[in-house]
Parts: sequence; structure tokens; C-alpha cells
Amino acid sequence: MHRNVEIDRENQRQWHTLSPQQVAEFLEVDPACGLAPDDAKKRLLQSGPNELEAREQTTLLQMLVRQFADVMILVLLAAAALSAALGEQTDAVVIMIIVVLNAIIGVVQEYRAEQAMAALRKMTSPDARVKRDGHLHNIPATGLVTGDVVILEAGNIVPCDLRLVNAANLEVDESAITGESVAVEKDVRALELVELPLGDRYNIAYKGTHVTRGRAVGIAVATGMQTELGRIASLLDKSEIQLTPLQKRLASFSKKLALAILIIAAVVFAGGLMRGEAVMLMFLTAISLAVAAIPEALPAVITISLALGAKNMGRLNALMRRLPAVETLGSVTVICSDKTGTLTRNEMRVEQIVANGQTAGSLSGVDCSKPLWNQLGKALALSTDVTLDDSGHACGEPTEIALYLGALDGEFIKSELERLHPRVAELSFSAERRCMTTLHQNGNSIISFTKGAPEAILPRCTQQLFLDGPNTLEPHAIHAQVEALAGQGYRVLAIAMRQFPTLPEQINPQHIENGLTFLGLVGLIDPPREAVAQAVDDCKTAGIVPVMITGDHPITARAIAKRLGILEAHQNGVITGVELNSLSDMQLKMRVGNIRVYARASPEQKIRIVKALQHNGEFVAMTGDGVNDAPALKQADIGVAMGKKGTDVAREASDMILVDDNFATIVAAIREGRRIFDNIRKFIKYTMTSNSGEIWTLFLAPFLGLPIPLLPIQILWINLVTDGLPGLALSAEPQERGIMHRPPRPPQESIFAHGMWQHMVGVGLLIGGLSLAGQAWAYHSGSENWQTVVFTVLTFSQLVQVLVIRSERESLITIGLFSNLPLLGAVLLTVALQLMVIYLPFFNAIFHTSPLNLIELLVCFALPMIVFVVVEIEKLLVRRKDIYGRKKNGY
Ligand code: ATP
Repeated sequence: MHRNVEIDRENQRQWHTLSPQQVAEFLEVDPACGLAPDDAKKRLLQSGPNELEAREQTTLLQMLVRQFADVMILVLLAAAALSAALGEQTDAVVIMIIVVLNAIIGVVQEYRAEQAMAALRKMTSPDARVKRDGHLHNIPATGLVTGDVVILEAGNIVPCDLRLVNAANLEVDESAITGESVAVEKDVRALELVELPLGDRYNIAYKGTHVTRGRAVGIAVATGMQTELGRIASLLDKSEIQLTPLQKRLASFSKKLALAILIIAAVVFAGGLMRGEAVMLMFLTAISLAVAAIPEALPAVITISLALGAKNMGRLNALMRRLPAVETLGSVTVICSDKTGTLTRNEMRVEQIVANGQTAGSLSGVDCSKPLWNQLGKALALSTDVTLDDSGHACGEPTEIALYLGALDGEFIKSELERLHPRVAELSFSAERRCMTTLHQNGNSIISFTKGAPEAILPRCTQQLFLDGPNTLEPHAIHAQVEALAGQGYRVLAIAMRQFPTLPEQINPQHIENGLTFLGLVGLIDPPREAVAQAVDDCKTAGIVPVMITGDHPITARAIAKRLGILEAHQNGVITGVELNSLSDMQLKMRVGNIRVYARASPEQKIRIVKALQHNGEFVAMTGDGVNDAPALKQADIGVAMGKKGTDVAREASDMILVDDNFATIVAAIREGRRIFDNIRKFIKYTMTSNSGEIWTLFLAPFLGLPIPLLPIQILWINLVTDGLPGLALSAEPQERGIMHRPPRPPQESIFAHGMWQHMVGVGLLIGGLSLAGQAWAYHSGSENWQTVVFTVLTFSQLVQVLVIRSERESLITIGLFSNLPLLGAVLLTVALQLMVIYLPFFNAIFHTSPLNLIELLVCFALPMIVFVVVEIEKLLVRRKDIYGRKKNGY
């Protein structure tokens, strides 16, 4: 079929020199129907998914090997092997087993993190619109194959390289490929030169570029790594997984901590030698201590907590696109939100129609035979852009649908009227002009209808149609009516018309939208979403300022903002886009803190607002849906895109996508973000305090004249059992009471703030002290079980610690043991394992333990309770300080 098409199969970069027909022939597709689904399936098997392989998949084996790539683990294994050679086979084998178990846990953790991340990527990857078998389908962009017929619309990200076959006013921002930020106009004609720079191949749309205007149809000529973007991606070095700010800070902290622990291990080693212990034993002890105390698993655990947290947020309708955002969500201090659709339902309805100074609820209550009402009805029906689906439902913009239905109320039926007055030209809606016009045949002449924001329409009107005919315009009266409607929260549109003897030659706003006859006003209601008022309230108690940004009239915006609680009754925090433009950056920075509503604002102004807020130290979440919103979404600390009405471009620029477009979802995600961060903090607090307890025990024993308290195997066991399960179960901890009653956490605040340092050192010392007290008591009373006593007191103290730090402020008695069942289960399991090691002879031999008598066992249960009491007192003091702090701040 494609014999006569001269193209080198290897050199696909010549598509631009072929005509659309030649491309279609070559790729064996009929552009009118698209591929057959079976054919597409076959092609997909051959070419693989349409995605960039940024990272090679790590196999489980690679993950396992990586666990052993830690210097300390290798030294430990070498030392174990050496001790085996010297005759201590059991110890050596057990150490190996424990290390392998540790590695397996590491692999499971990493695997879970990767899976969770992959699931997130899948949830947030965009769809593409293709024609297959003559029907349009939305399919995941990864399923595209060469030959697919793809539809592009403004706001799309081009899903693969396309040779355009049809383009209407198509403009594409190709900065992702060429670096050129000015949008390029596209065309479908074949080009002659083969060696053209990419930016000059006007008939190709490249994967990863943004459609800023128009519509087009193209045939997929390259997918995945074969695309130009794929070529660039393969040139770039494969970037590592992005670390979150917390992970970065902890990684550098861990290095310093590791050094300190190595020094302590060296001191323990030297101290043991000086007291005449065996060199090999002391060496293994020191290395085991280092392995147990260096928190090398922290970054992985944080990734898991964040990725699992992100999955939870997905359930709350907030899809997280970047992990760092999960971590920083809790720091948001200002949420800038669009009004229509996010704060309100975007279900518009005509509720007021004002003409001739008269107000009607709908056209059904007026005499539509009168020219004024008749023209108004026709205007509503004819100038709206709606399409009817198979079942007769109107589809389109909510404003348009509302007007269309408003016309139907007066029995102005669009399809019938269009037969009489076909649309011959139009000036489509633009947010800059805030109006739109359609022109229709009217017998032998032409009639135009213009609708839009009153302040955009009125200056263009020269007269007004009254019930008794046209007369001079009464702008003052009309303004008063606009303000009255807007004050009740209505979106107000003005409707006007004009007659032309013939179709004007130039169809542009200057020629058409002038000398209009004003017909009337329409008040559209867009009710607030139910959960929003509560969410706004939650924001306020949580120290977050909600701000509304809207294209609507300032009076409408104020009315809605008041209804939702964004503006207090006495507050005067409304500014318009025009006023905003008149402010210098400096003036804006000074005022931005007091502004709660930006009305008649354009997307381009959002970026100034974000920058000014950030300059004042705010941490800003910003919503957006259009292509023009993308820069502001990128600039914001948390860019929030809409899942329903958002464009691909806005979604790509965002950190988070709201599946339901709902403001309340942002607040729910912030609440969840705070919980996740709290739990990460608790995990760090628990692990570090436990490690510090182990260090204190081994470090202080010689100073108290006690023999080495723990054997290497016991240290590794504690590390494996107590740090592992209970630590992980902390991520299931429910949110703290009052989580939305405290101010946002400053993003730069140290993870160790709020007394964590002191807790780690102090409570660690307490745990070490209690373990040594148990040892001293058993040792001096002549018990042979003294080593098992230290081992058990240390383990149980850590378990008490994990339970009691479940809340940073509340008593364990208040929150109850059963409010985190996974953790309770993990603790009970660990107790059972410890009892097994103490009482089963098989394990006695392996772990060098001995069965405790009843008194000793009771002591092992009783001593750790002191940790409970002390930490509860610490929390009591925190609560006292909070109350005092609040009183001082006048709460
Ligand atoms: P928000 O910014 O709150 O999400 P929005 O994005 O809907 O609101 P725009 O679409 O920019 O705001 O609309 C701004 C103004 O343009 C409206 O207040 C209205 O006066 C006018 N307008 C909106 N839609 C239409 C339409 N379909 N036809 C004519 N005028 C319209």
C-alpha cells in the first residue's frame, strides 16, 4: 500500500515533508475512522506503551543487593564470618540470619514505596482523545500507537508526536522542546526542506508541548521514547528519585549522627578492651551497636509514609502529583481559590431577569409577544453555545446552559429559532473582553446579540429598548439594578443587540460590539458548595487564610465571600483586577495581607498575588484550571489543579489535583498532610529515642562497674524487632485531636523542634538508666539471668515508649490503647516474641538468654512503666504551657 511513499523507515524525522494522505497511507490508517481497536492492540504490543522510560525498573534482586551495600552491614558480616572461623558458629549464623531478615524488611519497604509511587503516577497521568473505528474515545495517553488519529484542544498537552492533518487556529507552546516560549501557529501543509529545525516544522505537534489555542486532528507518527521528547529525555542523565526537603535535611543529619555513633562505638570498643574483654566480642559489640543505632532506614520509611499518605489523600479526592507536596501541605498558610466551581457548585440557574425597569423571575411570567421580551428571549436562545446530546440534554459551559434553559422557560427553542435565524458569524467569549457576540440572518438583514459583564456591555450601548420601543439609555438606573442583583450574590450578565443591513466585512469587536441597543440584565445564581462554609471555618481555626480569586463582579464576589465566611461582615478586603494593576509590587506586598477577595481578576494576575504573599513569608496553595493559570500554579508552594474542568497544562503544572474540584477537599488534604507529618515526626522520635537508649546502656555500663550489658545478637534483635514493626505501625496513628486548631508548621522548622531533641536524649537516658538498674539489681543479687533482664527491660521500655508517644500532647489514657490497633498488635506481638526468646530453650541457646523467674519477670514489666509516667508528665507540662501560651496571646 505504501510502496510509492518514499520515506526511510529508520529516519522518521521526515514526516513533515509528506502530505497528510501520504502519512496516513504509510501508517496504514484512514484519518476519518482511525485505527481498528484490534490493530491498535497489536501495534501497542509491538511498540510498547507511549511513555518515557525515565527510570529503569529495579528488580527485587537488585533491591536486595542494595540493602547489603551499606559499609556497616558489610563490616558486620565480615566480623561474623571471622568469628565463625574462630569457632563461634552459632553466633555467626544468627547474625547472618538477622541481617538477612533486616534486608528483607528493607526490600519489602522499598517495594511498597515503589508500588505506591507507581500507583500515584498512574492515577495522575493524562488521557488522550482518539478516534478508533470511527468513534471518539478517551484513553490513557500511554495506550497511543503510531497511526492513531488524535484530537487536540486548547489546554491539552500533546500526548505523542503528531503529523497534523487538520488544524483550526492551532497554537502550540513548544518551550518544552525548543526552549522558545512564544506560542507557534501550526499548519497542515507539507514542507519541502528535510533538514528543518524542529521549531520550523509547522505541521508537527510534539509530545510534551502545550496547546494554547484552537483545535486540531493529527496522526501519531512517534510514541514514547521514539518521540522528539523521548530523544531529549534519553540524552539527559536519568535523574534520581526526587528527595523531599525533609529527606534532604535528614540525610545530611544522618551523616553527622553516623559519625558520632561511630565515635561512641569506638569508645565502647576501647573501654571493653581496657577491662580485658575479648577483642572479637568487643569488635562485634561495637559494630552491632553502630548498625543498630545508625538510622539508615529513615529516608525509605519517610518515602513509604508519604506515598501511603498520598494514597489516602487519593481516597479523599486529592491526587498528589509530587511527594514533597504531601510533606509540606501542613505548612500552608494561605489558600487562594477560584470561585466558580471550587467554592460554588458551578450549577448556574437564571433567577432574575430585569428589563424596562421590571424584574421577572423567568420568561414564563412575561408577555413574550412584546418586542422587548421577545428579543431578550431570542438573544438568550441564539447567542448561547450549547450542544444537545442524544437524549436531548444540553452540554456546554454552565453559564451557557443556564441561559439556554432560561430561554426555554419562555418557549424560545434554540433549534427552531436557529432554523429561522442561522448563525452567520461570531466573536467568541474572551475573558479579557468579558463578553461574546453572535450574528444571525434575520430575513434580508443581520441581527447580532451580545452578552457579557455589564461594565463591558454598557459603554458599548447607545440606546435601550423599552416596552414602548427604543429610547435613550439610562445607565444610572441600570447600574443600580446591577448592584442590587450582585449584592444578592447573582452573577449578572447584560444582554444587547444590534441590526446590520448586511453582514459586515470585518468581524472584530471594534466594528461589531459598538452602537448596541441594551435589552436587559440576567441574574444567575450559582449556589455555594455545601461543605465549603465548614471548610472555610476549619481553615480559620487552623491559622490558614482562605482567599477568593474570581472573574466575577466585585459585589457578587463580596456577597458570596460573606456567605461562605471568607469575608467577615465588617471586613473590607475586596480589590478588583483594575485596582490591582494600579498597585506597584511594593504596594501590593503591603496590602496583600488584608485582601480576601480579588474580583474581575485575570489568571495572569494570580502570579503577582502568589509572589507578594510569598514575599511576606506565606506558604501559598493556589487553584487553577486554565492554560493561563499554569505559571501561578508552578509559582505557588502547592499548585492545585481541577480534575473535572481543568486542562492538562494546569494539571501538569500542579502538585495536587482535586478530583471533585471542591475547595473542601484542599482543606481535607491539608488535615491529612498534617497527620502524615505528625506521624513521621513520631516515628523519628521513637526510633531515635530507642537508639539513644541502646547507646546509653552500652556506653554507661562500664562507668557503673557493670559487665557488657548486651551481646551483639541481642542488640541486633532489638533493632530488628522493636524498631521494625511498632515503628511502622505508627504511620497508622489517627490524627491528633485539635490538629486543625494549631497554626501551620513553618516549612523551615527543624523536625527536632518542640522539645524533640531533649526528649530523645533525656528519655533515651531514662531507658538506658532503667535497663542498667535492672542489670545492677540482678547482677548484684547474684542472679545468672542479669543479661536477660537488661535485654528485656530495654525491649519493653521501648514498647512502652512507642505507646506513650502516640500523641505529642494527649495522655495515652485519654486517647485509649485501642485507637491504633495495628500498633497495639505490633506491641503485643513483640512482647510475645520476647517471651519466646526468654522461655523457649531453643532460643535460649541462640540468643544467650535464660528463663527469668517470676520476680525478675515482674521487674522487667514494672521498670518500663517509669517511662510511661515520665513521658506522661512531660506531656502534661506541654499541655500546661499551651494553655499558658494561649492565655498570653489572648485566646
Ligand atoms: P471564577 O474566576 O470565579 O472561576 P469565571 O472563571 O467563571 O469565574 P470568567 O469566566 O472569567 O470567570 O467570567 C468573567 C465574567 O465574564 C463573568 O462574571 C461574566 O460577566 C462574563 N461571562 C462569563 N461567562 C460568560 C459567557 N458565557 N458569556 C458572556 N459573558 C460571560
